[in-house]
Amino acid sequence: MSGRVLVVDDVATNRLLLRAKLSTAYYDVVVAENGTQALDLARSEQPDMIMLDVMMPDMDGFTVCRILKSQEATAHIPVIMVTALDTPEERVRGLEVGADDFLSKPFNDLALFARVRNLMRMKMMFDELRLRDMTSRELGLTDFITEQDMDPEMGGPIMLAPKCVADGEHWASELNEKLGVSTIVTYSERESMNLAQLELPDCFVVHQDLLEGGDGLRLVSALRARPETRQSAVILVVENGDIQTAAKGLDLGASDYIEAPFDVSELIARIRSQLRRKRYSDRLRSNVRDGLKMAVIDPLTGIYNRRYASVHMGRVMERAREVGGVFAVMMVDLDRFKNVNDRYGHDAGDAVLREFSRRLQENIRGVDLVARFGGEEFFVAMPDVDEDAAAKAAERIRAAVEGTPVVLPGGAGEVHVTVSIGVAIADAHETDPDAIIKRADQALFEAKEAGRNRVTFSAAA
Ligand SMILES: [Mg+2]
Repeated sequence: MSGRVLVVDDVATNRLLLRAKLSTAYYDVVVAENGTQALDLARSEQPDMIMLDVMMPDMDGFTVCRILKSQEATAHIPVIMVTALDTPEERVRGLEVGADDFLSKPFNDLALFARVRNLMRMKMMFDELRLRDMTSRELGLTDFITEQDMDPEMGGPIMLAPKCVADGEHWASELNEKLGVSTIVTYSERESMNLAQLELPDCFVVHQDLLEGGDGLRLVSALRARPETRQSAVILVVENGDIQTAAKGLDLGASDYIEAPFDVSELIARIRSQLRRKRYSDRLRSNVRDGLKMAVIDPLTGIYNRRYASVHMGRVMERAREVGGVFAVMMVDLDRFKNVNDRYGHDAGDAVLREFSRRLQENIRGVDLVARFGGEEFFVAMPDVDEDAAAKAAERIRAAVEGTPVVLPGGAGEVHVTVSIGVAIADAHETDPDAIIKRADQALFEAKEAGRNRVTFSAAA
């Protein structure tokens, strides 16, 4: 897995050193010597990650990071702040402007590469989701993700698996107070896994050595393996200087690590940044899911559209072939619907379509499929239904529409509507779904010709 890294540093030897290190691991490296250049290159080169020096003349790293994270074109690029000072205050400040991690000079290669691999992996996951989300947005299927959607204070609890009781109590009270989230403290691997299934935490803070025996790394790996916790943030706590364990943790899927002893404000800043990232990816995922749903659902009536019905027809035919059975297809069309729109307006027309689709669904079985083909034309596929059963169902639908007028919204009175229905019966021998639909369509045309408000069957194929 390679990728492009933008290295930003005002000192030439530092740029050369990082370029050399990253190049040996086959990363493609772009360099910038000040903040302005960094912002330009981040936009034009779209790197997969930025390694950003904190101390620079003119514009310091915090300012550069804040600007990168506030612009749509660069907000999604992970930033590692590179610092010589490395104090908790500096780390908290960096996290607050959106940095994803810190490395201190001089570099420890193990820490450097574990970080880079981890952030590259995250970036690729996000790129894929963002791409699909953009398609949904272009199709008008989903909305932009707003700042509110990423509020770290909304969502599930945080699970703490510390090394000692005092730590657990201290972290929990600070998190409750400063982040306003609920916490669960556990002390063993088994207890953590059991509770995780029940409580679905958004974030885990796991010490490398758990109080009641057990291995924090094994817990990280188990959390990543379970579908319920795969998307949660995991912060590994390692003993000061134990970069070996930190690197192993990142490779096992930890989202971040923190070296103990630490200031709780740094833990809070790291959790906050992880929660934002999790909210963002959750939102992307649900946008993609909604987008897929929207692609096959008719927004007015909430039933399937023609695209879905076509795929579904294939499945109904396959089933008929397997069991050697028959099935029915109906085309159902509201009579003189144009008059409703003309006379009462489009809101009334929409209300009629919604009510009609509701009655249609009430008068079929769960296994049948209703879809809106467009306008006032609806489609029903009924597996394992012969001519007798289809006739009964069609008549039930026809009577349900004729029997009760539709009440219009806003006290606009009520309107009397009727439907015409064309039915085609098909058996296991048929191979062309369009031909079956065409027969039902032809029967519908005949019902209209014969005076509407009636059911007509097509001649057998
Ligand atoms: Mg510098």
